[in-house]
Amino acid sequence: MSELKIAEIDVFQVDLPYSGGVYRLSGGREYRTFDATIVRITTQNGLEGWGESTPFGANYVAAHALGVRSGIAEIAPRLIGLDPRRVDRINDSMDAALIGHEHAKTALDVACWDLFGKSVGLPVCELLGGRTEFRMPVISTISIDEPDFMRSRVAEHRAMGYMGHSVKIGGDPAEDAARIAGALADKKSGEYFIVDANGGMTVETAIRMLRLLPHGLDFVLEAPCATWRECVSLRRRTDVPIIADELAINDASIVQLIADDAAEGVGLKISKNGGLTKGRRHRDICLAAGYTMSVQETTGSDIAFAAIVHLGQTIPERYLRCVLESRVVLSGKTADGAFDVIDGRVVAPNTPGLGVAPRMDVLREPVASYR
Ligand SMILES: [Mg+2]
Repeated sequence: MSELKIAEIDVFQVDLPYSGGVYRLSGGREYRTFDATIVRITTQNGLEGWGESTPFGANYVAAHALGVRSGIAEIAPRLIGLDPRRVDRINDSMDAALIGHEHAKTALDVACWDLFGKSVGLPVCELLGGRTEFRMPVISTISIDEPDFMRSRVAEHRAMGYMGHSVKIGGDPAEDAARIAGALADKKSGEYFIVDANGGMTVETAIRMLRLLPHGLDFVLEAPCATWRECVSLRRRTDVPIIADELAINDASIVQLIADDAAEGVGLKISKNGGLTKGRRHRDICLAAGYTMSVQETTGSDIAFAAIVHLGQTIPERYLRCVLESRVVLSGKTADGAFDVIDGRVVAPNTPGLGVAPRMDVLREPVASYR
């Protein structure tokens, strides 16, 4: 194989406001703007690869935007001169430079996959195992609000063709039961509902909420509680399918979920889990266990969404519940590409690499460069 070496790494920063004003999660968490870090890796022969890491604020998982850029400062000098196509070796070097901080490694890892694809003229999904041929359902994200408003938000997305909905709840049993009943009130055949507490319930409030719901509502419960013990305890006492998200963050936690029979599936967020190289392994562990997956991001603009689409496109239809349309949360475009959501579905483009063309007028000048 002809030589390919990382020559330069540039870091860009963009503030992306939440498109709906204030985004609310359990525990009184509110989000108004998201701080995106976008990385460009340039090789010795002038090839460019792009990656993004955009945490959901600083209090969603153990990730924050300043940490992304500080982590990159630790890692980037160690990657100069390495072959970006050797993605597992790149990750070995990143893990040797910095323990954890997967959100910082993600933008670099994704940029390497973009370069890998461009260097061989293939889309990233082909390199990750080969594309499935179906159009993937995109899931909506319905922020915590009054039940009737949440019902109308679901209806708006239904009208756009969405078959999947991620409904956020907040922790009060009666209010949450009303939110779920509202969001599912007009549920159509084939629709898929994730009720996502983002770790905001105790076992007590979760059991009370479930007992307040009419029997037979068809949904899965995602991240009910913040800790492993609580989630496992709740699971032993309910027949509602459980999906792990914030607690499924690496090889060890996903293997432990399976060993504890603690869930039916996971939310596989690329920057939470460290990028496409690690995401690929988590995908395979989940497939081996018969877990369903939603391929997502903490949040992210066009480059992050491209990575979601390419990884999602490699998961057989039976196991892929949805991909997250991370872009709709944010106002502003950071890149162009053939990632249109049509009738609530999306398919990976055939362009080499990720298939994104960054908007340099939005990214402007790098905030850091390493060479
Ligand atoms: Mg979630």
